[in-house]
Amino acid sequence: MRFVGGSGIGRLARRLARDYDVYAPREVAGALVLQRLADGDPPAWNDHRLAEPLKSLWLQPGKILAQWTPQGPQPGPRPRPRAVFGAKQCDLRALTILDRVLRDHEHKEPAWCDARERNLVVAGDCTGACDSCFCTMLGGQPWPQAEFDLCLGPVEGGYLVEAGSARGEQLAAELEDARPATAEQVAARDRRRQEVLQRVRAQNERWRTVDPTDKTVEKNLRTRIWGKLAATCVECNACNLACPTCHCFLLFARQTPAGAVRVSLWDSCFHAGYARMAGGGTPRLQLTERFKNHYYHKFVSFPRNWGVTACSGCGRCVDACMGRIDKRQCLHRLETEWMPSEVLEEIV
Ligand code: SF4
Ligand code: SF4
Repeated sequence: MRFVGGSGIGRLARRLARDYDVYAPREVAGALVLQRLADGDPPAWNDHRLAEPLKSLWLQPGKILAQWTPQGPQPGPRPRPRAVFGAKQCDLRALTILDRVLRDHEHKEPAWCDARERNLVVAGDCTGACDSCFCTMLGGQPWPQAEFDLCLGPVEGGYLVEAGSARGEQLAAELEDARPATAEQVAARDRRRQEVLQRVRAQNERWRTVDPTDKTVEKNLRTRIWGKLAATCVECNACNLACPTCHCFLLFARQTPAGAVRVSLWDSCFHAGYARMAGGGTPRLQLTERFKNHYYHKFVSFPRNWGVTACSGCGRCVDACMGRIDKRQCLHRLETEWMPSEVLEEIV
């Protein structure tokens, strides 16, 4: 691990701009989003996760997957590789979750695999937390553990820089004015990590659940609680679109002056027509059923199929929801309001 002074991060961004389009956090209308960094600008430090998920660069909505030209079908345009500053652990965990669906089996999504291979992640410790952050409720910790090339941990006078890949090792070795981190600096970073961990745990204490989330959701599949939990949902889909792990997409064709193109857009399981089949039938016509399915997929079927819960506890769905539905509260209510008699009533 190495230590670099504060200005070293600006030099790192300039070095990366030779090979990548560099993106970094910027505050726009009160929300932290990812924006392309102008050459020479140093990236700003973000205390906590951005409002925008990392998937907005990896799985860009509106992406052209294929085009038909007079010369025949061609793959869509291949963007320049991207380097991203400001990724936090909840987004890195989401990359692992999305890999399960889009990469780690025989039906690979080529654009995702290409982006995973070529894009570079400069992650950072959380030095603060949003009120909605709840990674600790799902066994997470507010500092990067994997899926990064470089990880920055602020300490007095600069940053500790940890490499997480061969590319990261090489970049760390090239950092000008960097020197080996001292034991005191590592200890200071670790103390701060523990402070943030305690803060996130404390703010979620009132939602604490005892049972694993898959058991909690599954035992409620035949109860009536879902209607109560979904009572204020207005089907705006914001929770799906803000979520770093939601990955459903739809395809459509469009005519352009250069020929027809096949475009991919983000989809949402809250749409009434989401699971509609040929002939018009849909298995989840009622909003309550779609709401329940969202929880079932994230906390029961996904971990059983892929070995990991499809939620990183980032809390973006909490912030985005105009119905003020809080996933932590829903999980807590599913556990604490479960009544075996209610299930029996349903069965009878
Ligand atoms: S479900 Fe909510 S908390 Fe979980 S990863 Fe998605 S946006 Fe974040
Ligand atoms: S963000 Fe809230 S209101 Fe909108 S679809 Fe999701 S749960 Fe419903």
